Amino acid sequence: MAIQNNGVAASVTHTQPLWLLAEITYRCPLHCAFCYNPTDYDKHTQNELSTEQWINVLRDARKLGALQLGISGGEPLLRDDIEEIVIEAKKLGYYSNLITSGVGLTEKRIQAFKEGGLDHIQLSMHDITEEINNFITNTKTFELKKKSRSNDQEPWLSYGTQRCDPSL
Ligand code: SF4
Repeated sequence: MAIQNNGVAASVTHTQPLWLLAEITYRCPLHCAFCYNPTDYDKHTQNELSTEQWINVLRDARKLGALQLGISGGEPLLRDDIEEIVIEAKKLGYYSNLITSGVGLTEKRIQAFKEGGLDHIQLSMHDITEEINNFITNTKTFELKKKSRSNDQEPWLSYGTQRCDPSL
């Protein structure tokens, strides 16, 4: 059975992908010891998909039935086209979620995301203490993350805590 959502056909099946996680860049200002992404950014940056290519991926995934979009990385805010991608995601009918360390999440960008139709921001805190957050990420980013939280005046910013489990 086919349904229409914002003009995009989606087949309702038990096997359709419901969630598209777009790892939009490998680049990241943090240096987590457990990071699984490549760190030779120069090589991979040349091969990053363009804005138009990502929008085509979003369209294709919607045709397959994806409903939710995760915009992740690396650190997605290192790209300056996230606002454009958010607008397109809204037009396509996605529930969209920006997954970010908060580094680069300015008041201006938050406003643009709201206006563009972003549904949710997931801020990765890595730890609730400054000492452990900075240790895990190998950066002094705890205060920056707290600042990005205070930039947001509405309760749509949620906080995920990622921990590296030494027993694994
Ligand atoms: S924030 Fe994520 S992408 Fe960035 S270094 Fe840490 S684990 Fe890797």
